[in-house]
Amino acid sequence: MNPLPKPPFNDVWDRLDENHLCAYCACELAENTLHCPQCHRRLTSKVLDHQKPSGSFYIFLIFIVGLVQLSLIQIILEVLSLTSPVTLVWQGIWFPIFLILAYLVYRRRFSGYVGAMVAAAIGMTQLGLTTFQPELFQTWSDVQGTPLEGLISGSAQTVSGIIFALQFASYGGILLLGFFYVPPDFATKKIWHRVNVPADLYRMNGAAAHLTADRLAQEGQWAMAVMYWRRALADDPSRVLYALSLADAYRRLGFEGRAIDILKYLQKNTSTMQARHKIAALKAQTVGQWRQKQGTLDTVKEK
Ligand SMILES: [Zn+2]
Repeated sequence: MNPLPKPPFNDVWDRLDENHLCAYCACELAENTLHCPQCHRRLTSKVLDHQKPSGSFYIFLIFIVGLVQLSLIQIILEVLSLTSPVTLVWQGIWFPIFLILAYLVYRRRFSGYVGAMVAAAIGMTQLGLTTFQPELFQTWSDVQGTPLEGLISGSAQTVSGIIFALQFASYGGILLLGFFYVPPDFATKKIWHRVNVPADLYRMNGAAAHLTADRLAQEGQWAMAVMYWRRALADDPSRVLYALSLADAYRRLGFEGRAIDILKYLQKNTSTMQARHKIAALKAQTVGQWRQKQGTLDTVKEK
C-alpha cells in the first residue's frame, strides 16, 4: 500500500485580512464577487436592520388587519341589505388588497409598507369624497321607501357611521405611524456571506460557539462554521465533539489534510471506545475522499 501523500497545508482562515472567503465553501473571492464561482451561491442578501419589530409596528399592523375586517363587515352588510351596490364593489376591491397588504406588512416587506401608505392615502381621499360628495358613491341608496326598508337603512346608517369612523381612524393611524414611527421597522441592510471574524467570537465559550457553528452548518455555511468550531475547540480542547465537528467541516470543504491532522491527534488522545469508533469512521471517510481526489488529479495529469 502506498503511503498517503502529505496533503498541502493551506489555512485560508488565517489570512482573512488579505482575502475574502465564501462563507459556504471557503472559496477565495475577489473583492466584489456577488456569486461564488465555486458553489454558485449568492454572496449577499438583505436583512432587516432591527430583528425585533417596534411597538408602533404592531399598532400599524393592527390598523391594517382592522381595515381587512371592516371591509369584510361592509361586504356582508351590503350583501344582506343591498342598499349601495357601489360600496359592495368598492369593498370587493379593498378587501383582497388589505388582506395582501396585511400579509406583506406582517412579513415586514418594504412593498407592504409602501402599499399600506398608498392605500391609506387613497382610502382617506375616498372617505372624504363620500362625505362631501356622497352622490359619487351612493347612487342606489334612498330607494323604495317602505317602512321596513326605512328601518333597515336606519340601522345600516348607524353601523356605517361607526365603520366610517373606524376606517377614518385607521387610515389616519396608518399615515401617522407610517410617516413618523415605523420606517425603521422596514429598513434593510445588505450583508455579505463571507467568512469574517465576528466581534463576539472571542468572548464566546465553547458551548455557545459550538451551537452557533451547528446552526451555520445547517444553513450550509460550513466555512463560517469553521471559525466557531475553532473557537469552541480553543476554549475547551478536551471536547472530542468540537474537534470531530471541526474535522468534519474541513473534510466537507475539501481540506482533508487539516481534517486528518485533527483526527490523528484525537486518535492518540482519546480513550473512550465510542469516540474512538467515530474518529476512526470519519478518518476512513476523509482518507477515502483524499485518495479519490488524488486519483482524479492523477488522471487529469496523465491526460
Ligand atoms: Zn462558495
